[in-house]
Amino acid sequence: MKVLKFGGTSVGSVNGILSVKKIVEAEVGPVIVVVSALSGITDQLYKVAKLASEGNASYISEYDQMMSRHLEVIDGVVDSAKKENVLTQVKSQFVDLSNILRGIFLIKDISTKIIDTIVSYGESISSVIVSNAIENAVHFDSKEFVKTENQFEKHIVDFEKTNLLIREKFSDLPKISVCGGFISTDCNTNFITNLGRGGSDYTAAIIAAALHADILEIWTDVDGFMTADPRIIDNAYVIDKLSFIEAMELCNFGAKVIYPPTIFPVFHQNIPVVIKNTFNPEALGTYISRDKVNERAKAIKGISSINDTSLITVQGLGMVGVIGVNYRIFRVLAKNGISVFLVSQASSENTTSIGVRNADSALAVEVLRKEFAYEISQGEINDIFSEDDLATVAIVGDNMKRTPGIAGKLFGTLGKNGINVVACAQGASETNISFVTDRKSLRKALNVIHDSFFLSEYQVLNIYIVGIGTVGSSLINQIKMQQKKLMAQNGLKLNVVGIASSKKMLFDREGLDLENYSADLKNTGADASPELICREILNLNIFNSVFVDCTANAQISDLYKTLLENNVSVVTANKIAASSAYENYVNLKEISRRRGVKFLFETNVGAGLPIINTMNNLINSGDHIEKMEAVLSGTLNYIFNTISSEIPLSKAILMSKEAGFSEPDPRIDLSGKDVIRKLVILAREAGYRVEQSDVVKNLFIPDKYFSGSLDDFWKNINELDAEFEQKRKALSANGKRWRFVATMENGNCKVGLQEVDSLHPFYDLQGSNNIILITTERYNEFPMMIKGYGAGAGVTAAGVFSDIMSIANIR
Ligand code: ADP
Ligand code: ASP
Ligand code: MG
Repeated sequence: MKVLKFGGTSVGSVNGILSVKKIVEAEVGPVIVVVSALSGITDQLYKVAKLASEGNASYISEYDQMMSRHLEVIDGVVDSAKKENVLTQVKSQFVDLSNILRGIFLIKDISTKIIDTIVSYGESISSVIVSNAIENAVHFDSKEFVKTENQFEKHIVDFEKTNLLIREKFSDLPKISVCGGFISTDCNTNFITNLGRGGSDYTAAIIAAALHADILEIWTDVDGFMTADPRIIDNAYVIDKLSFIEAMELCNFGAKVIYPPTIFPVFHQNIPVVIKNTFNPEALGTYISRDKVNERAKAIKGISSINDTSLITVQGLGMVGVIGVNYRIFRVLAKNGISVFLVSQASSENTTSIGVRNADSALAVEVLRKEFAYEISQGEINDIFSEDDLATVAIVGDNMKRTPGIAGKLFGTLGKNGINVVACAQGASETNISFVTDRKSLRKALNVIHDSFFLSEYQVLNIYIVGIGTVGSSLINQIKMQQKKLMAQNGLKLNVVGIASSKKMLFDREGLDLENYSADLKNTGADASPELICREILNLNIFNSVFVDCTANAQISDLYKTLLENNVSVVTANKIAASSAYENYVNLKEISRRRGVKFLFETNVGAGLPIINTMNNLINSGDHIEKMEAVLSGTLNYIFNTISSEIPLSKAILMSKEAGFSEPDPRIDLSGKDVIRKLVILAREAGYRVEQSDVVKNLFIPDKYFSGSLDDFWKNINELDAEFEQKRKALSANGKRWRFVATMENGNCKVGLQEVDSLHPFYDLQGSNNIILITTERYNEFPMMIKGYGAGAGVTAAGVFSDIMSIANIR
């Protein structure tokens, strides 16, 4: 014999009930079908009760809406032969309900008893509809056999009476029986009661246990018990097997799939539970049983959470070594019907922290203060307060007890992501580690844990891209092209969660549409500023996130410190931060190290060329960088390679801008500032303390061209053309070329124009290419040489992309 429970969504629509019908009618042996109210109806019943009791006539329209929804469902699922009869039964129940509501509307008062009566109509009616939709099904009224007694104002199942009544009622088992879940009656007064929100699962388990069913099937709207709440973790997946203990731990800590008390009766009778999807019956679902744990299975099976947590701390030096303090805490809480789901006590014994639901926190504080009034007045115990707006997360798995290091990994991962742990507890059974954190960190905590324990089939990297000029837009394009492949081959999901231009910004934690972001920014983007961008990122508080700066803006680079402090990695093509005051550069690196996130700027020098990484690798392996000689300005190299008798200096400058090589303001390149910044960054990465002002300059354009406006510059720069052409001719006649060279020797830096002959490795440097010769202790007689495109949107974007990938630890 089987017990099948169908939840609210399963019976909440015509299609749902038709699936239920198909599933039940396909059964061969006898089945008892337990159903919830139609989805949302219980909530609506609580709502109408409240409205009517407040004298608010709008309860009538809610009531009408509920009735018409039921009538519509009847129309779609009940055969025409039976329809009239079912409509009469259901309408008569609605009339009773309407009379009760009218009564409380008039007297403007309501009691819990009446509320319990009102909400019972959901299951009373749905069970009639479902039993008439299924061929040859017999209807049973659960109120006649599920009995409760009152304890601490809660309805607790009276198992003795209930079991007897169930066995009596079902002694003659029809092939298909249907009854409502959730509803019950008081064993003394016979008043209508219920088993609590979500209680239909419990009804089904109670019946299954009383009748020693072979199996209990919980049919719902997901493919099974998942590794985490799929509404929060979109890559959560179905767990095929769970032990009763694991299922119980997960449910107790908020996994909504099964109402927590459900597990015990079936566990006690060793009746396996299967979670199945009414809308996808082929899916295997989750099998919960006493089966031995597979020792090779993952250490952690699932994560669950409770988002309304209050933490009450009883603390005081007077508690140390005093026997009975905890006894008094729990006694007084139990006496007042307050359930405690987490306890944490330090071994010093001077603090006990207790996790309770928000709704219980005020009462808990009140009764604890009363209980310890004397000790508080004597200063032995501090005054007792509750900390609200917290959330509890539990990670669960039988195999945790065989796997050392889980707690270390858990708290390490949380710390790295800036998630503060307020209290934690691990049961000695080691099946569950729970911790309390701020409610606003909950989503992030669940995500990072899910990710880091490889519960996910793929890893997620969340990316904010600021600046959608040539580099930014090229990067977005590259990400778009690679997304599918990275997911398929590397199990990496690149999720672009924010895009901002200098004017507009768009954010979506689920990921933005990279096809239409430009139009979306224009049409639906919010106004942007560096502060607003930063605020939004901190508000979103998304795990594993990277801020990508594709601007040349100083205010944007000023955000790095805050972002890194908040555990957001930074990847930047913007050179301002790494070349700013040495203190700032070191500080950013230090914060990123402390926070366990990355601050990467490979593209600051040589665009996509692997220069900084290579230097880091050399140094990390014990080498020492003595000297660097480099052509680091793609723009200047392009200009010197382009100038000819036909193309004067001013035109070559304009061409370099139009080709996308130069900075938006080409004077930054021409004044050597860009090269100085790069050289400073390289020298620092090589281990030297260098400021921009330390670099000796030998420029080729007089200072006066840099002091006016950009317009003045463009207007006047052709004044230099003739003189330049003369020098160029003479140089060319000598078989030489100009290169703008940056040099660092033991920390001394200089930049300037150099004439190189055909034997020099820089002579043949084509187009906008860059080159660097690195002389180290190991690469001494023959320096290491890195050469290639040193500017351009595509290669720079690729370099940024490569930094992003190194954060995901995938190459
Ligand atoms: P029913 O109405 O069938 O009783 P519930 O809404 O009570 O269904 O429970 C199913 C829902 O529980 C799913 O739709 C899902 O959103 C949510 N849920 C929360 N945590 C989990 C989890 N770990 N696995 C599966 N579903 C979960
Ligand atoms: N209908 C009840 C509720 O919404 C019971 C259930 O769905 O399990 O809480
Ligand atoms: Mg449920």
